[in-house]
Amino acid sequence: MRKPSNALSRYHRVSAGTEEARFLTANNFPVDFDLDAPLSDLWSIHDDAMSDFHRAYRSDMSDRSDRSDRSDQPEIGKKPAGKSLLNLKIKIADRMLENCNFCDRRCGANRKKGEKGYCRLGAVSRYSSEFLHYGEEPELVPSHTVFLAGCVFSCVYCQNWEISTHPDLGIPILPEDVARIAATRRALGARNLNFVTPTPHLHTILRILAEMRVNTPIVWNSNMYHSEEAAKLLCGVVDVYLGDFKYGNDGCAKRYSNAPHYWDTVTRNFLCAYDDSEILLRQLVLPGHIECCTAPIIDWVCDHIPDVRFNLMFQYSPAYLAYRYPEIARSLTDGECEQASRLLAESGLYSE
Ligand code: SF4
Repeated sequence: MRKPSNALSRYHRVSAGTEEARFLTANNFPVDFDLDAPLSDLWSIHDDAMSDFHRAYRSDMSDRSDRSDRSDQPEIGKKPAGKSLLNLKIKIADRMLENCNFCDRRCGANRKKGEKGYCRLGAVSRYSSEFLHYGEEPELVPSHTVFLAGCVFSCVYCQNWEISTHPDLGIPILPEDVARIAATRRALGARNLNFVTPTPHLHTILRILAEMRVNTPIVWNSNMYHSEEAAKLLCGVVDVYLGDFKYGNDGCAKRYSNAPHYWDTVTRNFLCAYDDSEILLRQLVLPGHIECCTAPIIDWVCDHIPDVRFNLMFQYSPAYLAYRYPEIARSLTDGECEQASRLLAESGLYSE
Protein backbone atom coordinates (compact mmCIF):
# COMPACT_ATOMS: atom_id res chain seq x y z
CA MET A 1 0.00 0.00 0.00
CA ARG A 2 1.40 3.38 -1.02
CA LYS A 3 1.49 5.77 1.90
CA PRO A 4 1.63 9.36 0.68
CA SER A 5 4.06 11.74 2.22
CA ASN A 6 1.58 14.45 3.06
CA ALA A 7 -1.85 12.88 3.63
CA LEU A 8 -3.30 14.79 6.58
CA SER A 9 0.16 15.55 8.00
CA ARG A 10 -0.52 19.25 8.25
CA TYR A 11 -3.94 18.56 9.76
CA HIS A 12 -2.28 16.62 12.58
CA ARG A 13 0.06 19.53 13.32
CA VAL A 14 -2.80 22.02 13.48
CA SER A 15 -4.82 19.66 15.61
CA ALA A 16 -1.85 19.30 17.98
CA GLY A 17 -1.53 23.08 18.17
CA THR A 18 1.93 23.32 16.60
CA GLU A 19 0.71 24.99 13.44
CA GLU A 20 -1.88 27.66 12.75
CA ALA A 21 -5.27 26.82 11.23
CA ARG A 22 -5.63 28.44 7.85
CA PHE A 23 -8.65 30.56 8.70
CA LEU A 24 -6.55 32.28 11.38
CA THR A 25 -3.85 33.01 8.83
CA ALA A 26 -6.47 34.37 6.43
CA ASN A 27 -7.94 36.50 9.20
CA ASN A 28 -4.50 37.95 9.92
CA PHE A 29 -3.70 38.58 6.26
CA PRO A 30 -4.35 42.27 5.53
CA VAL A 31 -6.27 43.14 2.37
CA ASP A 32 -7.66 46.55 1.57
CA PHE A 33 -10.96 46.83 -0.29
CA ASP A 34 -13.94 49.11 -0.64
CA LEU A 35 -17.06 47.61 0.93
CA ASP A 36 -19.21 49.14 -1.83
CA ALA A 37 -17.05 48.04 -4.76
CA PRO A 38 -18.73 46.02 -7.53
CA LEU A 39 -18.52 42.27 -7.12
CA SER A 40 -16.20 41.94 -10.12
CA ASP A 41 -13.73 44.32 -8.44
CA LEU A 42 -13.91 42.37 -5.20
CA TRP A 43 -13.10 39.19 -7.08
CA SER A 44 -10.06 40.83 -8.72
CA ILE A 45 -8.78 41.94 -5.34
CA HIS A 46 -9.47 38.49 -3.94
CA ASP A 47 -7.60 36.69 -6.73
CA ASP A 48 -4.57 38.97 -6.36
CA ALA A 49 -4.65 38.57 -2.59
CA MET A 50 -4.84 34.79 -2.89
CA SER A 51 -1.73 34.78 -5.09
CA ASP A 52 0.10 36.75 -2.40
CA PHE A 53 -1.39 34.56 0.31
CA HIS A 54 -0.24 31.36 -1.38
CA ARG A 55 3.23 32.77 -1.96
CA ALA A 56 3.57 33.82 1.68
CA TYR A 57 1.87 30.70 2.99
CA ARG A 58 3.97 28.26 0.96
CA SER A 59 7.21 29.98 1.88
CA ASP A 60 6.11 29.98 5.52
CA MET A 61 5.38 26.25 5.26
CA SER A 62 8.79 25.50 3.76
CA ASP A 63 10.45 27.56 6.53
CA ARG A 64 8.56 25.48 9.07
CA SER A 65 9.42 22.17 7.45
CA ASP A 66 13.11 23.13 7.64
CA ARG A 67 12.87 23.40 11.39
CA SER A 68 13.56 20.34 13.46
CA ASP A 69 11.95 21.81 16.57
CA ARG A 70 8.18 21.90 16.09
CA SER A 71 7.36 22.75 19.67
CA ASP A 72 6.91 26.45 18.90
CA GLN A 73 3.31 27.51 19.33
CA PRO A 74 1.79 29.88 16.75
CA GLU A 75 0.60 33.21 17.93
CA ILE A 76 -3.17 32.84 17.98
CA GLY A 77 -5.96 35.33 17.87
CA LYS A 78 -4.28 38.48 16.60
CA LYS A 79 -6.99 40.71 15.20
CA PRO A 80 -5.77 42.56 12.11
CA ALA A 81 -5.80 46.32 12.44
CA GLY A 82 -7.72 46.75 9.17
CA LYS A 83 -9.58 44.46 6.82
CA SER A 84 -8.36 40.95 6.15
CA LEU A 85 -8.54 38.31 3.46
CA LEU A 86 -11.21 36.54 5.50
CA ASN A 87 -13.23 39.77 5.68
CA LEU A 88 -13.04 40.03 1.89
CA LYS A 89 -14.27 36.44 1.48
CA ILE A 90 -17.18 37.22 3.80
CA LYS A 91 -18.08 40.27 1.74
CA ILE A 92 -18.02 38.33 -1.52
CA ALA A 93 -20.11 35.49 -0.06
CA ASP A 94 -22.62 38.05 1.18
CA ARG A 95 -22.96 39.46 -2.35
CA MET A 96 -23.25 35.97 -3.85
CA LEU A 97 -26.25 35.39 -1.61
CA GLU A 98 -28.23 37.92 -3.68
CA ASN A 99 -28.03 35.64 -6.72
CA CYS A 100 -27.01 32.41 -5.09
CA ASN A 101 -24.39 30.30 -6.77
CA PHE A 102 -22.85 28.63 -3.75
CA CYS A 103 -23.47 25.24 -5.33
CA ASP A 104 -23.29 24.14 -8.93
CA ARG A 105 -27.06 24.21 -9.33
CA ARG A 106 -26.57 27.97 -9.49
CA CYS A 107 -30.28 28.48 -8.98
CA GLY A 108 -29.86 32.23 -8.49
CA ALA A 109 -32.25 32.71 -5.57
CA ASN A 110 -32.01 36.09 -3.89
CA ARG A 111 -31.67 34.58 -0.45
CA LYS A 112 -31.05 37.98 1.14
CA LYS A 113 -34.56 38.98 0.09
CA GLY A 114 -36.08 35.83 1.54
CA GLU A 115 -36.16 33.72 -1.61
CA LYS A 116 -35.33 30.07 -1.10
CA GLY A 117 -33.29 28.02 -3.51
CA TYR A 118 -33.41 24.34 -4.37
CA CYS A 119 -31.82 23.73 -0.95
CA ARG A 120 -34.90 25.32 0.70
CA LEU A 121 -32.69 27.82 2.49
CA GLY A 122 -32.95 31.58 2.74
CA ALA A 123 -30.30 33.80 4.31
CA VAL A 124 -30.55 32.35 7.82
CA SER A 125 -28.45 29.26 8.44
CA ARG A 126 -29.61 26.63 10.89
CA TYR A 127 -28.14 23.54 12.45
CA SER A 128 -29.82 20.41 13.76
CA SER A 129 -27.19 19.40 16.31
CA GLU A 130 -23.60 19.90 17.41
CA PHE A 131 -21.61 17.57 19.61
CA LEU A 132 -18.34 15.70 20.05
CA HIS A 133 -18.66 12.95 17.46
CA TYR A 134 -16.80 9.67 17.99
CA GLY A 135 -18.12 7.95 14.85
CA GLU A 136 -15.95 9.71 12.24
CA GLU A 137 -12.62 8.41 10.91
CA PRO A 138 -10.01 7.69 13.65
CA GLU A 139 -7.89 10.71 12.66
CA LEU A 140 -10.81 13.01 13.32
CA VAL A 141 -12.32 11.83 16.59
CA PRO A 142 -13.41 13.33 18.80
CA SER A 143 -14.69 15.72 16.18
CA HIS A 144 -16.75 18.78 17.03
CA THR A 145 -19.42 18.12 14.43
CA VAL A 146 -21.99 20.72 13.45
CA PHE A 147 -24.84 19.18 11.43
CA LEU A 148 -26.23 21.95 9.25
CA ALA A 149 -29.78 21.98 7.92
CA GLY A 150 -30.84 21.68 4.27
CA CYS A 151 -28.93 20.17 1.37
CA VAL A 152 -28.19 20.88 -2.28
CA PHE A 153 -28.73 17.20 -3.13
CA SER A 154 -31.88 15.07 -2.99
CA CYS A 155 -30.47 11.63 -2.24
CA VAL A 156 -33.26 9.07 -2.34
CA TYR A 157 -31.50 7.07 0.39
CA CYS A 158 -30.83 10.07 2.68
CA GLN A 159 -30.52 9.06 6.32
CA ASN A 160 -31.03 12.63 7.53
CA TRP A 161 -34.01 13.43 5.35
CA GLU A 162 -36.01 15.16 8.09
CA ILE A 163 -33.45 17.91 8.51
CA SER A 164 -32.25 17.98 4.90
CA THR A 165 -35.78 18.42 3.56
CA HIS A 166 -37.12 20.60 6.41
CA PRO A 167 -34.27 22.96 7.27
CA ASP A 168 -36.66 25.32 9.07
CA LEU A 169 -36.73 22.76 11.90
CA GLY A 170 -33.11 23.61 12.68
CA ILE A 171 -31.73 26.05 15.24
CA PRO A 172 -30.86 29.48 13.79
CA ILE A 173 -27.13 30.17 13.88
CA LEU A 174 -25.58 33.21 15.49
CA PRO A 175 -21.91 33.10 14.38
CA GLU A 176 -20.55 34.40 17.67
CA ASP A 177 -22.47 31.72 19.59
CA VAL A 178 -21.14 28.89 17.44
CA ALA A 179 -17.61 30.33 17.75
CA ARG A 180 -17.99 30.30 21.53
CA ILE A 181 -19.30 26.72 21.52
CA ALA A 182 -16.40 25.68 19.28
CA ALA A 183 -13.90 27.10 21.79
CA THR A 184 -15.57 25.13 24.58
CA ARG A 185 -15.60 21.90 22.55
CA ARG A 186 -11.94 22.40 21.65
CA ALA A 187 -11.10 22.79 25.33
CA LEU A 188 -12.99 19.54 25.96
CA GLY A 189 -10.75 17.69 23.51
CA ALA A 190 -12.21 18.22 20.03
CA ARG A 191 -9.52 17.62 17.42
CA ASN A 192 -11.23 19.76 14.80
CA LEU A 193 -14.35 21.71 13.87
CA ASN A 194 -16.34 19.71 11.34
CA PHE A 195 -19.09 21.40 9.30
CA VAL A 196 -21.47 18.82 7.79
CA THR A 197 -23.46 19.70 4.64
CA PRO A 198 -21.79 23.11 4.59
CA THR A 199 -22.19 24.37 1.01
CA PRO A 200 -25.42 26.40 1.29
CA HIS A 201 -24.07 27.89 4.54
CA LEU A 202 -20.81 29.22 3.18
CA HIS A 203 -21.64 32.82 4.15
CA THR A 204 -22.40 31.82 7.74
CA ILE A 205 -19.40 29.54 8.16
CA LEU A 206 -17.02 32.30 7.06
CA ARG A 207 -18.63 34.59 9.63
CA ILE A 208 -18.23 31.95 12.35
CA LEU A 209 -14.53 31.64 11.48
CA ALA A 210 -14.07 35.40 11.69
CA GLU A 211 -15.39 35.23 15.28
CA MET A 212 -13.13 32.37 16.33
CA ARG A 213 -9.94 32.89 18.32
CA VAL A 214 -9.18 29.25 19.02
CA ASN A 215 -6.71 27.31 16.89
CA THR A 216 -8.50 24.27 15.48
CA PRO A 217 -8.46 22.62 12.05
CA ILE A 218 -11.52 23.27 9.89
CA VAL A 219 -13.08 20.23 8.22
CA TRP A 220 -15.33 20.81 5.19
CA ASN A 221 -17.55 17.72 5.30
CA SER A 222 -19.28 17.94 1.97
CA ASN A 223 -20.65 16.33 -1.18
CA MET A 224 -18.14 18.48 -3.13
CA TYR A 225 -20.88 19.95 -5.30
CA HIS A 226 -19.97 23.57 -4.61
CA SER A 227 -19.51 26.10 -7.41
CA GLU A 228 -16.18 27.26 -8.78
CA GLU A 229 -16.67 30.59 -7.00
CA ALA A 230 -17.36 28.88 -3.68
CA ALA A 231 -14.23 26.77 -4.18
CA LYS A 232 -12.19 29.97 -4.54
CA LEU A 233 -13.58 31.30 -1.26
CA LEU A 234 -12.72 28.05 0.51
CA CYS A 235 -9.09 28.21 -0.63
CA GLY A 236 -6.91 29.38 2.21
CA VAL A 237 -9.58 28.65 4.81
CA VAL A 238 -10.24 24.89 4.93
CA ASP A 239 -7.70 22.53 6.51
CA VAL A 240 -9.29 19.21 5.48
CA TYR A 241 -11.79 18.52 2.72
CA LEU A 242 -13.77 15.54 4.01
CA GLY A 243 -15.29 14.95 0.60
CA ASP A 244 -17.87 12.44 -0.56
CA PHE A 245 -17.28 10.96 -4.00
CA LYS A 246 -20.48 8.99 -4.51
CA TYR A 247 -20.97 8.43 -8.21
CA GLY A 248 -18.75 7.40 -11.09
CA ASN A 249 -21.02 8.86 -13.77
CA ASP A 250 -23.72 11.47 -14.31
CA GLY A 251 -26.55 8.96 -14.82
CA CYS A 252 -26.31 7.50 -11.32
CA ALA A 253 -25.92 10.98 -9.80
CA LYS A 254 -29.07 12.20 -11.55
CA ARG A 255 -31.09 9.12 -10.66
CA TYR A 256 -30.27 8.95 -6.97
CA SER A 257 -29.36 12.53 -5.98
CA ASN A 258 -30.89 14.66 -8.76
CA ALA A 259 -27.44 16.20 -9.25
CA PRO A 260 -26.82 17.31 -12.86
CA HIS A 261 -23.30 17.47 -14.37
CA TYR A 262 -22.04 15.69 -11.27
CA TRP A 263 -18.81 14.21 -12.57
CA ASP A 264 -17.36 17.42 -13.99
CA THR A 265 -18.34 19.42 -10.89
CA VAL A 266 -17.00 17.02 -8.30
CA THR A 267 -13.76 16.15 -10.11
CA ARG A 268 -13.10 19.88 -10.66
CA ASN A 269 -13.60 20.54 -6.95
CA PHE A 270 -11.42 17.64 -5.84
CA LEU A 271 -8.62 18.89 -8.09
CA CYS A 272 -8.97 22.38 -6.59
CA ALA A 273 -9.04 20.99 -3.04
CA TYR A 274 -5.96 18.87 -3.77
CA ASP A 275 -4.08 21.93 -4.89
CA ASP A 276 -5.27 23.93 -1.89
CA SER A 277 -5.09 21.63 1.11
CA GLU A 278 -5.50 18.04 2.36
CA ILE A 279 -8.25 15.54 1.51
CA LEU A 280 -9.93 12.69 3.30
CA LEU A 281 -12.10 11.16 0.58
CA ARG A 282 -15.14 9.03 1.33
CA GLN A 283 -16.68 6.60 -1.14
CA LEU A 284 -19.99 5.19 -0.04
CA VAL A 285 -20.32 1.84 -1.79
CA LEU A 286 -23.85 1.42 -3.19
CA PRO A 287 -25.42 -2.00 -3.89
CA GLY A 288 -24.87 -3.00 -7.50
CA HIS A 289 -22.74 0.09 -8.20
CA ILE A 290 -19.19 -1.16 -8.01
CA GLU A 291 -18.46 -1.30 -11.74
CA CYS A 292 -20.25 1.95 -12.58
CA CYS A 293 -19.28 4.01 -9.51
CA THR A 294 -16.66 2.60 -7.11
CA ALA A 295 -14.25 1.34 -9.80
CA PRO A 296 -14.10 4.51 -11.96
CA ILE A 297 -13.75 6.66 -8.85
CA ILE A 298 -10.77 4.64 -7.62
CA ASP A 299 -9.22 4.86 -11.10
CA TRP A 300 -9.71 8.62 -11.29
CA VAL A 301 -8.30 9.21 -7.81
CA CYS A 302 -5.23 7.11 -8.67
CA ASP A 303 -4.64 9.12 -11.84
CA HIS A 304 -5.35 12.63 -10.54
CA ILE A 305 -5.21 13.00 -6.74
CA PRO A 306 -3.25 9.99 -5.46
CA ASP A 307 -2.02 11.56 -2.20
CA VAL A 308 -5.31 11.42 -0.35
CA ARG A 309 -6.57 9.31 2.50
CA PHE A 310 -9.26 7.12 0.87
CA ASN A 311 -12.07 5.74 3.02
CA LEU A 312 -14.27 3.09 1.45
CA MET A 313 -17.57 3.07 3.35
CA PHE A 314 -19.81 0.04 3.67
CA GLN A 315 -22.57 1.39 5.90
CA TYR A 316 -25.18 1.95 3.21
CA SER A 317 -28.68 1.03 4.24
CA PRO A 318 -31.82 1.71 2.23
CA ALA A 319 -33.45 4.66 4.02
CA TYR A 320 -36.04 7.28 3.06
CA LEU A 321 -37.22 6.69 -0.55
CA ALA A 322 -34.76 3.93 -1.46
CA TYR A 323 -37.59 1.37 -1.46
CA ARG A 324 -38.77 2.95 -4.74
CA TYR A 325 -35.51 1.92 -6.42
CA PRO A 326 -35.42 -1.89 -6.26
CA GLU A 327 -31.76 -2.10 -7.28
CA ILE A 328 -30.64 -0.20 -4.16
CA ALA A 329 -33.44 -1.28 -1.81
CA ARG A 330 -31.13 -3.67 -0.01
CA SER A 331 -27.88 -3.74 1.96
CA LEU A 332 -24.52 -4.65 0.46
CA THR A 333 -23.60 -8.31 0.11
CA ASP A 334 -20.36 -9.70 1.55
CA GLY A 335 -19.20 -10.32 -2.03
CA GLU A 336 -19.69 -6.64 -2.94
CA CYS A 337 -17.72 -5.49 0.11
CA GLU A 338 -14.89 -7.87 -0.77
CA GLN A 339 -14.90 -6.79 -4.42
CA ALA A 340 -14.71 -3.09 -3.54
CA SER A 341 -12.00 -3.72 -0.91
CA ARG A 342 -9.96 -5.69 -3.44
CA LEU A 343 -10.16 -2.87 -6.00
CA LEU A 344 -8.95 -0.37 -3.44
CA ALA A 345 -6.14 -2.61 -2.23
CA GLU A 346 -4.97 -3.19 -5.80
CA SER A 347 -4.97 0.57 -6.45
CA GLY A 348 -2.30 1.20 -3.81
CA LEU A 349 -4.18 4.23 -2.48
CA TYR A 350 -3.68 5.16 1.16
CA SER A 351 -6.70 3.89 3.01
CA GLU A 352 -5.90 3.77 6.73
S1 SF4 B 1 -26.84 26.75 -2.32
FE1 SF4 B 1 -29.08 26.56 -2.48
S2 SF4 B 1 -29.81 28.57 -3.20
FE2 SF4 B 1 -27.59 28.46 -3.57
S3 SF4 B 1 -27.35 27.76 -5.69
FE3 SF4 B 1 -27.29 25.94 -4.37
S4 SF4 B 1 -29.40 25.17 -4.22
FE4 SF4 B 1 -29.46 27.28 -5.02
